[in-house]
Amino acid sequence: RELPGDSRSDVMPREVLHACYTKVSPSVEVENPQLVAWSDSVAELLDLDPKEFERPDFPLIFSGASPLAGGLPYAQCYGGHQFGMWAGQLGDGRAITLGEILNSRRERWELQLKGAGRTPYSRFADGLAVLRSSIREFLCSEAMHSLGIPTTRALCLVTTGKYVTRDMFYDGNPKDEPGAIVCRVAQSFLRFGSYQIHATRGKEDLDIVRALADYAIRHHFPHIETMIKSDSLSFNPGEESTSVVDLTSNKYAAWAVEVAERTASLVARWQGVGFTHGVLNTDNMSVLGLTIDYGPFGFLDAFDPTYTPNTTDLPGRRYCFSNQPDIGLWNIAQFTSTLSAASLINKEESNYAMERYGTKFMDDYKSLMTRKLGLSKYNKQLIGDLLKNMSVDKVDYTNFFRSLSNLKATSNVSESELLVPLKAVLLDIGKERKEAWTSWVKTYIQELISSGISDEQRKVEMDSINPKYILRNYLCQSAIDAAEQGDYGKFGGC
Ligand code: AMP
Ligand code: MG
Ligand code: MG
Repeated sequence: RELPGDSRSDVMPREVLHACYTKVSPSVEVENPQLVAWSDSVAELLDLDPKEFERPDFPLIFSGASPLAGGLPYAQCYGGHQFGMWAGQLGDGRAITLGEILNSRRERWELQLKGAGRTPYSRFADGLAVLRSSIREFLCSEAMHSLGIPTTRALCLVTTGKYVTRDMFYDGNPKDEPGAIVCRVAQSFLRFGSYQIHATRGKEDLDIVRALADYAIRHHFPHIETMIKSDSLSFNPGEESTSVVDLTSNKYAAWAVEVAERTASLVARWQGVGFTHGVLNTDNMSVLGLTIDYGPFGFLDAFDPTYTPNTTDLPGRRYCFSNQPDIGLWNIAQFTSTLSAASLINKEESNYAMERYGTKFMDDYKSLMTRKLGLSKYNKQLIGDLLKNMSVDKVDYTNFFRSLSNLKATSNVSESELLVPLKAVLLDIGKERKEAWTSWVKTYIQELISSGISDEQRKVEMDSINPKYILRNYLCQSAIDAAEQGDYGKFGGC
């Protein structure tokens, strides 16, 4: 079934009712747009010959100034809970999908321009994006992918040659910043909020929730359809199962569980590398379990569970680093209640999906932390004590684990030598803290000895899971500063 769209194509800000999208074309003003960054690996996903980046019309197409042949541009309608409150319709206020590509491997990739002009969902804002935020999105989505973390991707970044006015510090001193557009790419940009919006608009739109769920399952979770029993229509859960949910009887329940599990896995990976998203509103939660919408994100430098890169989230810190696992569950609860409201899943199925989120998160997180420490089995106390020590002494979350892999699993080291391999990451710690760390390292070494893994093998395994490089804020900022001066060499082609 075709998804219902909005028949009007103008960009007048409005409530777009009974529709999943509005047909709208990019409308950004450009003056000599320039391609300044691109990703060959994303081009490969699209079967795009890297030579195409050299085409003189490439910056025109990817700034939206010239149409993409075969494209059917549209903006998506979605809603969302922002900071825990239902915010109603949000939608693609500055993102415009150009279309989808089916590549030679039959994978579907959606291309979206971020900052390509106003849409009916722009509300009071301008539909534009600046170079600073576009560089952050471009670099971080590609960095996350390289860290093995599911994410939307970035094909390229084009400067528009025009200026955009922004009040960056919300201090009433707006400044002009260079405009830019990122072409982001994902198998789908469907969000939890893409479903929520229709469930809130009365009974007649519950059908849209179902149609959009069918769409997502058919295109992005086809294994669920084949898993469903052919006799599912005659299945009567009341008699056959009570507490155990049978996922082969209801495809929507199986889907809810998969969305919950993918989200749990994603959040566990964020915690593993110290990534803090910053704005985990339900409109920024992908049903594919991708990291989506790079705004005020940040990676931990010193370990700090309360780290909150989004200054508008202070002092509440709803989306601080250590809250992300709970927020993931809160968001899944909104998603399952949306599916319940549309009668796609029942109470048990909804509870089951939430339960699966918890189990999957803990399984993944435990296994990840165990691997980060090079242990053979999970040790809650040891990991808990480590994180506490790291937080007290403000130890760098990334560098610490790289240093830790140099430790030798032997009891022959004298107490005064124990912390030598960690010297570079345990800076300026006093006598008392040295004792705390020595005691932790002793216990850790005992655990390593009992695991029986050789020092060499453990180092290889630890270094393969603990990143050497993350997108540190100061590095990202130095690329931005240089780019704003016209030097794109710091990030250029990926
Ligand atoms: P975000 O906080 O980035 O998830 O955005 C929340 C909502 O604001 C979404 O509907 C965005 O499309 C919209 N939005 C953000 N920035 C702009 C902008 N410059 N112009 C129009 N809409 C925007
Ligand atoms: Mg968003
Ligand atoms: Mg955003």
